[in-house]
Amino acid sequence: MELSQRVQSIKESPTLAVTARAAKLKAEGRDIIGLGAGEPDFDTPQHIKDAAKQAIDQGFTKYTPVAGIPGLKKAIVAKFKNENGFDYTEKEVIVGVGGKQCIFNLALAVLNPGDEVIVPAPYWVSYADIALVAGAKPVIIECGIEQGFKLTAAQLEAAITPQTKLFMINSPSNPTGAVYSLDELKALGEVLKKHPHILVATDDMYEHVNLTGDKFYNILNATPELKERCIVLNGVSKAYSMTGWRIGYAAGPAHIIKAMEILQSQSTSNPTSISQVAAQAALEGPQECILPMLDAFRERHEFVVKRFNGIRGLQCIKAGGAFYAFPDAREAINNLFNEGKIKAATDMALSEYLLEQEGVAVVPGSAFGADGYFRISFATSMNNLQRALDRIERALA
Ligand code: PLP
Repeated sequence: MELSQRVQSIKESPTLAVTARAAKLKAEGRDIIGLGAGEPDFDTPQHIKDAAKQAIDQGFTKYTPVAGIPGLKKAIVAKFKNENGFDYTEKEVIVGVGGKQCIFNLALAVLNPGDEVIVPAPYWVSYADIALVAGAKPVIIECGIEQGFKLTAAQLEAAITPQTKLFMINSPSNPTGAVYSLDELKALGEVLKKHPHILVATDDMYEHVNLTGDKFYNILNATPELKERCIVLNGVSKAYSMTGWRIGYAAGPAHIIKAMEILQSQSTSNPTSISQVAAQAALEGPQECILPMLDAFRERHEFVVKRFNGIRGLQCIKAGGAFYAFPDAREAINNLFNEGKIKAATDMALSEYLLEQEGVAVVPGSAFGADGYFRISFATSMNNLQRALDRIERALA
């Protein structure tokens, strides 16, 4: 029986595939350092786990309202007010099974076949595939290291057509860690103001993984006039080391949020009741629990960028947020190819080589729409990073 065209149009998440491959080689006894996973290497803070345990003990184990329990929705409304300066009502927020489900539901709620979705590259692996599932066409715009991995207003303007339905922006970015300044966001916002047919989705998943300490801004802060066509996406996965709990959330115009809720009611129903209580504890509890994680990420970030820039054929710029480094490896790839060490001058071949030769698992840049780069996650111990960087240096020497 032939599979649907929908599923044939997409691929498995490459980051999850790299993680699985590294785990398999490890299980076979190979000494593998996995730098593929996009999740903090810290335990979920104790007060969050305690809230979940209490929820279980109190029998909070049944269906909840599809779009989230009132307590968590209130906490999300308060978070947007206090941290971002946005006024949303509970009808304008929805809780989903991870940030990913919120993006998925948004795409299915607003996109029709033939619609175009503008996605600046390097992009988080799922944006393009989620657009494809919805029958829409991802329009990928290259933003290389020369421009700090950030889309310019001129590039955005040039990519807009009458078919453009959605513009995705992600800052801090996965995979590059790039953070847009308020002025850069304003410039993009000015372009979008001229094109009222475009919805704007800002994925703020790494808001709290802030490596510089600078104030966080998204495009809605920069251009409040976009509020009636902007969806703000966020979640607890990365900030509170809660990737396995599967809680994300979104805020936006009530009719779009309602459509997302209807979709959710026909797929997963509510996110896990216990996880919702945990997420509420995360948002309402002491925010200091994030600080030790941030300290570690900052130290590792400094270390990794410095080491990469000392390795032959690599160039790496500093990130503003998230826990990834995204070195430009085009020269290193050419070196290895010319020396006959890899069979093709591609980032796939380089990643393959690093895994086979040195036991270091990285994700090729092409998975993020950026050939010639690779991503490492520094959400792993300094010891692992030191060993991994030594191995990469040896492989590229
Ligand atoms: N958005 C970005 C940019 C991400 O990197 C991720 C996870 O990797 C998500 C959204 C989805 O997060 P969640 O695990 O909450 O589904």
